[in-house]
Amino acid sequence: MKFSELAVYFEKIESTTSRLEMTQYLAELFSKTDREEIDKVVYLCQGQLVPSFKGIDLGVGEGLLIRAISHATGYDTTTVEKVYTKTGDLGLTAEELVKKKKQITLYTKELTVTQVYDRFYKIATISGKGSIDLKIKYMAELFTSASPLEARYIARFLTGRLRLGIGDPTIIDALSTYKTGSKELREVIERAFNLCSDLGLVARLLVEDIKKIERFKPTVFSPIRPALAERLPSAEAIFERLGECLVDSKYDGMRCQVHKKGEKIELYSRNLERITHMFPDIVEGVKKIPQEEIIFEGEMLAYDEKHRRYYSFQETMRRKRKYEIKKMEEVLPLRLFAFDLLYLNGTDYTVKPMKERRKTLEKVIPKDNDRIKVSNCIIAKSAKEIQDFFNECINQHLEGIIAKDLNAPYIAGARKFAWIKLKKSYGKLGDTFDVVIIGYYHGKGHRAKYDFGGLLTAVYNPERDVYETIAKVGSGFSEDMMKQLKEMLDKIKVKHKPKEVDSRIEPDYWVELKYVITVSADEITLSPVHTCGHTDNPEDKGFALRFPRMIQLRTDKNPEDATTTKEIKEMFELQRG
Ligand code: ATP
Repeated sequence: MKFSELAVYFEKIESTTSRLEMTQYLAELFSKTDREEIDKVVYLCQGQLVPSFKGIDLGVGEGLLIRAISHATGYDTTTVEKVYTKTGDLGLTAEELVKKKKQITLYTKELTVTQVYDRFYKIATISGKGSIDLKIKYMAELFTSASPLEARYIARFLTGRLRLGIGDPTIIDALSTYKTGSKELREVIERAFNLCSDLGLVARLLVEDIKKIERFKPTVFSPIRPALAERLPSAEAIFERLGECLVDSKYDGMRCQVHKKGEKIELYSRNLERITHMFPDIVEGVKKIPQEEIIFEGEMLAYDEKHRRYYSFQETMRRKRKYEIKKMEEVLPLRLFAFDLLYLNGTDYTVKPMKERRKTLEKVIPKDNDRIKVSNCIIAKSAKEIQDFFNECINQHLEGIIAKDLNAPYIAGARKFAWIKLKKSYGKLGDTFDVVIIGYYHGKGHRAKYDFGGLLTAVYNPERDVYETIAKVGSGFSEDMMKQLKEMLDKIKVKHKPKEVDSRIEPDYWVELKYVITVSADEITLSPVHTCGHTDNPEDKGFALRFPRMIQLRTDKNPEDATTTKEIKEMFELQRG
């Protein structure tokens, strides 16, 4: 496929906010894509080169891109910067300057999707001496061959800001529409995606043979999207729903999915980033597991040997770092509490019932492993047993319990009642919220010196594939946090509201969707100002958080992992009793 065709579709998708239209354009695009290019087209639509768990980042800074545009168009970097200041978008900058480029190229060949993709890949992976100059050269060559429209998307892709406003749910719908003309394959495609987190691979298999998708099984080193827990207000409500159930201790640490094949080991975070190199102590523990091939999950916690207690989530998160790994390993040693088994020596355990997964997990994790322990759990036969175990967990300074349906399979990538969480009290609502920062405000009064006045935040609505506002967060910030947030957000300011945001409020600055924070609140109220859960009727009220307070940054969650509109509705119902 010609890259120019892809660029035309990108422009169509960019210019609509209707999910239906976006799905149609995408489906049409997939039908015109060559079979062997479908995975590349899907990755490009996602704004990535490969799934993020593979850890290949384009990593092109704005400075390099400006130099490449300058080389290709003949304008000096000061002029490129001036246009960038005017447009606020390097894509539009490249487009404008390629349109009126000074250097006339004698011969340019039309770019294909594969050529552009391969070039991006090279730019992302070259390293060492002279690599900066080579990156600039490769980028300049792309701009030299590109039409203005192609240049727009090449520049945006290279800086990681494609901003088509489509998420994975829309791509999944479009794949189904392309194959069948309707959304009937959505569930099968989603299931395969949840088991490998690689939508390009799923698209390729779908094009080859639908049976490959229907029979899809997990494989080692393709992380499985995590099963998530629903909420209920009490031990009684849980027992009423599940009956006899497994009740696990709920550890407040960092979720970790372990993959092992022979000597090779990889660890993946809650949002499926590869984090192996950050946790050599856990890797050492995994090495001692004698199984040839295994995928299991657990929660990592920093442990205070002296006082024999676990540190908080914030303390544990200090271990997630790029530098001083060795030093931090000594300061904050970790333990991993394994709670589920997903795959073992060629057998897919995700389809097996919880009781069987748990029984095998206990067999395969050696008891004398000092780094990896199996989580502490009971089989409860009454609400009282659930409540007693919950109290015991709270006394041990744990966060609460997760009750699990003994007969349910592992439901990857979904929040279902197969797992139900009950946490120590977070006020009337019983839980906190993970919301996405979509904008921020100037600081006034005592905040003027930080020029930081708070955040506009949103939750995710996967049904609409948009982010809906739920709260202006104005309190709970320490001075350091205000400085840190201002610095982080200044770097990702954008001139206009991101396309995937549905908001009736205009903050002082919009930002790219990147950061998730945890907030607590007194209650969920109805508000004419916010769009969470609203319908198209402008009179209709949305959900809002009353007295929201910042608790912490959630660096292990992506925007699409934030609390969803559906969860907010459920919590609103729970609050009403
Ligand atoms: P979520 O992960 O559900 O989006 P969250 O990150 O805010 O939400 P919680 O709502 O506190 O976390 O609870 C769910 C998380 O609890 C799981 O994602 C997992 O990281 C953690 N967890 C701790 N102990 C267990 C356990 N025994 N079984 C399953 N999950 C556990």
